[in-house]
Amino acid sequence: MNDQCISQKLKELLPEHPPKRYEPVGVCIYCGRTTNLSDEHVIPLGLGGRMVLPKSSCSFCSKKTSSFEMTCMRTMYGPLRQLYALPSRRKKKQPKKLPLKVKYKPQDDWTGVFVDQVDYPFLVTFPYFPMPNLITDEQTTDRRGAATNRLWIRGASAYEGFFDHLQRLTSKLKVHSIMPESKTHMEEFCQMLAKVGHAYAVAELGYGKFKPLLLRHIVDKELSNCADFIGSLDRDEVPSKDIHELSIYEDKKRNYIIVRMRFLAILGTPTYHVVVGEKLKTKSI
Ligand SMILES: [Zn+2]
Repeated sequence: MNDQCISQKLKELLPEHPPKRYEPVGVCIYCGRTTNLSDEHVIPLGLGGRMVLPKSSCSFCSKKTSSFEMTCMRTMYGPLRQLYALPSRRKKKQPKKLPLKVKYKPQDDWTGVFVDQVDYPFLVTFPYFPMPNLITDEQTTDRRGAATNRLWIRGASAYEGFFDHLQRLTSKLKVHSIMPESKTHMEEFCQMLAKVGHAYAVAELGYGKFKPLLLRHIVDKELSNCADFIGSLDRDEVPSKDIHELSIYEDKKRNYIIVRMRFLAILGTPTYHVVVGEKLKTKSI
């Protein structure tokens, strides 16, 4: 993926990305409460998600889900959202200037300056994982919690190629070098994968139509066994024509319901597979 294309591809695609509104659920899909329900975006609004599951999250749970989604959006994709004007519910709260580390002379230590967000040399980050243990049937006891040792990272800028942008910014700031940075929040990212998978399965199959397996991961941040449920392919699939990819399939042998997801798939990002539930046993007559 050539970084020069990133801004243009997203800008062209966003307006065409069709919205989808599912039937209202009428119950919180995370805890079962039936009062104070609000709409849930299956893919976060901050990533340009347009699939909405009406009346499906109570005020208690939506506080939790928006907290981990906000952490991911601000640190892993925040600059992206600001730069490409992806929708945000909190326009006024977005910082106009972002901190950047620079060196004025080669022998200097790194020092912090603030730059306009439109000038910020941002990185877009996605972690890779092994595939979920429940899919591969691997009995790993040493792989616990939300952890990875490999990341997908791309640089992008608003109007030009990333390296041209770095060069221009270096002369504009009159510095010797600049250090693009990004933060990856593994736990919050895994919570987000679990949430997207669960919400999508409810949207497609219906509430109560499967046995959910990820509620404690989403609501209680209980991630000690998340390697069993959450993983990704270790190779990159071809860039998508669509901004995101989301689909659901069954592992018939093991009775699992699995959601395949790829955010900003048009950039050739990693593909995640998340085991969201088990099929309910049907009574034989
Ligand atoms: Zn709830």
